Amino acid sequence: MQTLRITLEQNEIPTHWYNVAADLRSPPSPPLGPDRQPATPEQMGAIFPMPLLEQEMSAERWITIPEEVRQIYALWRPSPLCRALRLEQMLGTPAKIFYKYEGVSPAGSHKPNSAVPQAYFNKIAGTKKLTTETGAGQWGCSIAFAGQMFGLPVRIFMVKVSYEQKPYRRSMMQTWGADVFASPTTLTQAGRDALAKDPNSEGSLGIAISEAVEEAAASSDTCYTLGSVLNHVLLHQTVIGLEAKKQFDKVGLYPDVIYGPCGGGSSFGGIAFPFLADKAAGDKRAANLRCVAVEPTSCPTLTKGAYAYDFGDASGYTPLMKMYTLGHDFMPPGIHAGGLRYHGDSPLVSQLLHEGIIEAMAVPQVATFEAGIQFARAEGIIPAPESCHAIRAAIDEALRCKATGEPKVILLNLTGHGHFDMASYDRYLAGKLEDYDYPKEAIAASLAHLPKVG
Ligand SMILES: *Cc1c(COP(=O)(O)O)cnc(C)c1O
Repeated sequence: MQTLRITLEQNEIPTHWYNVAADLRSPPSPPLGPDRQPATPEQMGAIFPMPLLEQEMSAERWITIPEEVRQIYALWRPSPLCRALRLEQMLGTPAKIFYKYEGVSPAGSHKPNSAVPQAYFNKIAGTKKLTTETGAGQWGCSIAFAGQMFGLPVRIFMVKVSYEQKPYRRSMMQTWGADVFASPTTLTQAGRDALAKDPNSEGSLGIAISEAVEEAAASSDTCYTLGSVLNHVLLHQTVIGLEAKKQFDKVGLYPDVIYGPCGGGSSFGGIAFPFLADKAAGDKRAANLRCVAVEPTSCPTLTKGAYAYDFGDASGYTPLMKMYTLGHDFMPPGIHAGGLRYHGDSPLVSQLLHEGIIEAMAVPQVATFEAGIQFARAEGIIPAPESCHAIRAAIDEALRCKATGEPKVILLNLTGHGHFDMASYDRYLAGKLEDYDYPKEAIAASLAHLPKVG
């Protein structure tokens, strides 16, 4: 029998997260406050607890994963590394395709890998309540679950249009005990302002972020949580790549190329950074390793954005971060992978791309669903629309291997299942899904509004 699932024992869950900041060529550019000076921990302390801020700014290579967090991770981790043998056969490729499957978590994606430690470090720092925003609902579900694990109440501002279109994501959050509000609400000034402007507002991620941050800033025992982009979120996600390395060791293989979908960059950093650690340490196996972030052509942050300081949110509430950005008021056109809708990207992923350590590419929407369906028919798992981006790129690589005869080892990050995204699959199957081209004019208009720095 061929080995399809490479599993690890519970006690092989990593004991430390890997911090790529320790191996960067130049120090990361600091976030800037409203005065355009480096934001101080005190400023950020209004909405984040100290242990997470320390991780955010840390240059330590290895950071201990608390036993309490490993114990919750053990509910679904270590996640399987699987060989997509039937997909290889379907494609007729000499390449070996492996996927790290993060859809086995309670919320169905990689996001609980960071939600759990965020809830834990808030709990030990004395936080009494968490707030957050959610668009498609993946992050809201993850933090609702994590808050419940540590007895922390969670208040979630869910973009109104998703609240109405994704009722089951909302009921998942409520099942895990969270309070979920259709944003804009009348609970915050930001919400009331939005409703005064447009009483029928369908909401936006920008408004929802403003509401969640406002609530956290207004009370000393409430903190805000974010599901991607920030350094500590990428740090937590490195459990993905650290496990994958152990799993490859078990079968005596090493990847030639890694593909991950990229929205805010947390799952991509999570799978790629531990392999980049090998590269930094001069490990020969990693000498020619390529790590490729895959994004949608309709929201091409890494491939068409500017590397500049910009706000993390549409309303300009957050500190400025140096990152690839399409401009904070860029609205991507009709994109079904809600998790890849973000105008910016992780500062760490951005710096590594800028320094030429990693690569980025963009793929059009219809081709990603085509790849997702091919994957489902070969491997059984129905992937999240976000994950389909990495699958498209991996299939194309495998087809290039077929042409050249190269038996490459391809690793892809299967960040989640698509069970709550079947409405998008429906549109694809009905032939109604469209490609949205790179909106050159919209990006140029939005980039013209980048904040002036220095
Ligand atoms: C949120 C999400 C993503 C994108 O977020 P990153 O921070 O870039 O990882 C990708 N896949 C799934 C399933 C998601 O829920």
